[in-house]
Amino acid sequence: EVGIVEVKLWLQKLNRKLQQEKEHLTDLDQAIGDGDHGLNMARGFKEVSIKIENTDYETIGALLKDTGMTLLTKVGGASGPLYGTAFLKAATSIGDKSSVTLTDLSEALEAALEGIKARGKANLLDKTMIDVWEPVILYMKENRESIDWDEVIRLSNEKMEATKELEARKGRAAYLGKRSIGHIDPGAASSNYFFVELADVLK
Ligand code: ADP
Ligand code: MG
Ligand code: MG
Repeated sequence: EVGIVEVKLWLQKLNRKLQQEKEHLTDLDQAIGDGDHGLNMARGFKEVSIKIENTDYETIGALLKDTGMTLLTKVGGASGPLYGTAFLKAATSIGDKSSVTLTDLSEALEAALEGIKARGKANLLDKTMIDVWEPVILYMKENRESIDWDEVIRLSNEKMEATKELEARKGRAAYLGKRSIGHIDPGAASSNYFFVELADVLK
């Protein structure tokens, strides 16, 4: 079972990671975008961190909803609405539960992925965050209550690295065409932190 404490801890750890890696994410976005992904993520999750630190939640749904609304309203660019939608969809999926099984969690993350896809109209191998999300969630769904979190970390890292070889077909990087090849997608890198920090809390 995963409770409110674990979800909060995950979001706080993710915030810390994004503050630490702000420049790295910015460097990645400088190569194939407009160089603001580190700033966008750091600013958004700092707001999330402040908001959730000072609020007592009775349900995981309410915690995730606040997270999504904060990202949606405080972060510009493509990533704010995409991560915002993801958290809102996960919130709806979990609803008023104060603890969830790993199966519930996998289903909530699947709903989040569907939200990202509906909003951004991107698919696997378009060189976006989806290239990390989709394989990780597939693994989680297949393993349900017996998820190996070290495998989640390994898979997430591998899929992030694999975006290097892809040509971008969605988002700003798509303007570069073949020149986007050879660089890791910034959103895939922030998504890797998302899953690695989750795994770190739950393993
Ligand atoms: P912007 O590109 O508007 O400056 P960010 O730099 O914050 O926004 O985020 C860029 C990241 O957003 C990309 O690296 C990619 O992973 C993700 N992204 C962009 N467009 C889409 C889309 N249509 N679907 C899914 N992810 C996308
Ligand atoms: Mg950008
Ligand atoms: Mg931008």
